[in-house]
Amino acid sequence: MRKYNTVIIGGGPAGYTAALYAARAGLSVIVLEMLAPGGQMATTTEIDNYPGFDETVDGFDLAQKMKAGAERFGAESEFAEVTSLELEPVPKKVHTTSETFEADTVILSTGAAPRELGVEHEGELRGRGVSYCATCDGMMYRNKTVIVVGGGNTAAEDALYLSKLCKKVYIVHRRDRLRASAAYQKQLEQAENVEFVWNSQVTKLIYDNVITGAEITNRVTGEKSELAANGIFIAVGRIPNNTLFKDQIELDEEGYVVADETTKTNIPGVFAAGDIRRKPLRQIVTAASDGAVASKFVEEYLGLLP
Ligand code: NAP
Repeated sequence: MRKYNTVIIGGGPAGYTAALYAARAGLSVIVLEMLAPGGQMATTTEIDNYPGFDETVDGFDLAQKMKAGAERFGAESEFAEVTSLELEPVPKKVHTTSETFEADTVILSTGAAPRELGVEHEGELRGRGVSYCATCDGMMYRNKTVIVVGGGNTAAEDALYLSKLCKKVYIVHRRDRLRASAAYQKQLEQAENVEFVWNSQVTKLIYDNVITGAEITNRVTGEKSELAANGIFIAVGRIPNNTLFKDQIELDEEGYVVADETTKTNIPGVFAAGDIRRKPLRQIVTAASDGAVASKFVEEYLGLLP
C-alpha cells in the first residue's frame, strides 16, 4: 500500500497549491484528481483576475501549469476516483476504485459546483453566453445586455458588479422579492440600468451559436415573453462536493466544511482548502491561498515546524 505524508483530494488551484507547498517542504504528497486538473477553473476560458498575468489566461492552461509547478518539486498526481475515506484512524485511508492509499494527513479540496438552472442546452452554451461567474466573465459583456438569474446574495452581487460594466442588467427572479441582503436591494434599485423581472423563470435559452436572449415565463400569469441579451449569468446557488466525507466532517448548514483560516477541520490531520471550505469569497486566488495555508498546518500536525 502506498503511503504519503499528505493525500490531497481534488486537483483544483487549492489542491495543486497545497501540493506545491508540501512538496517544497520535503513532504511526500499525491494529488488525486478524477477528471482533469483545474476543477472549475479548467472550464473557464478567460481568467483575468488571477495575479501575475499581463494578458488573459486560459483556465485549462493555468491548471496544467499549476500541476507542472507542483510536480517540479516532486509532488505526484494521479487520475483516480476516490470511493471512500477513513479519516479518523492513524494512518488515514483513502480508497479509490483501483487501490488504497495510506496518509498521515488528508487535504480535502474537492471544490463546489454551480447549481445549474436545468434549462435545455444550458451545458453546451456554457462559455457561449451562459456563465456562472460574473467576476470571471463579466468583462466580456462590457456595454452589452445581460440577464442575471437568481435572488440570493450571489445574484445581487453579480448584478451590481455587472451594472457597472454592462449597458443593461435584467434580474430574473422566481419570486417577488430578493432573498439577498437589503443593502444590495437598495443599491440595485438605485442603479439606473438594472431592471427586475419578478415572479419569472428562464424557460428557454435563445441562441444562434451564442446566446441572444431568453424566454421568460411569468409564474403567476403563465405568460411567456422574450428578453434580448448577450449573456445569462446563472446564480442560483452552489453545490459543495462533500459526498465523500459528509458523514465524517463537520459541515455548515449549506454543506461547506467548517474550517477557519487555518483550514483545520473537526478531525485532526484533515484539512479543507478552497471552495469546499466555508469562506466569504470563492476565487482561484483564495483557493490557492488556502492550499498554501493547509500545507503549513500539515507540517505543524506532523511536528515539522520549529
Ligand atoms: P442562495 O442564497 O441559495 O440563493 C439562490 C437563489 O437562487 C435564491 O434566490 C433562489 O430562489 C434561486 N434559485 C434556486 N434554484 C433556482 C432555480 N432552479 N430557478 C430559479 N431560481 C432558483 O445562493 P447564493 O446567492 O449563491 O448564496 C449562497 C450563500 O453565500 C448564501 O448564504 C449567501 O448569503 C452567501 N453569500 C454571501 C455574500 C455576501 O455576504 N457578500 C455574497 C455571495 C453569497 P428563492 O429565493 O426563491 O429560494
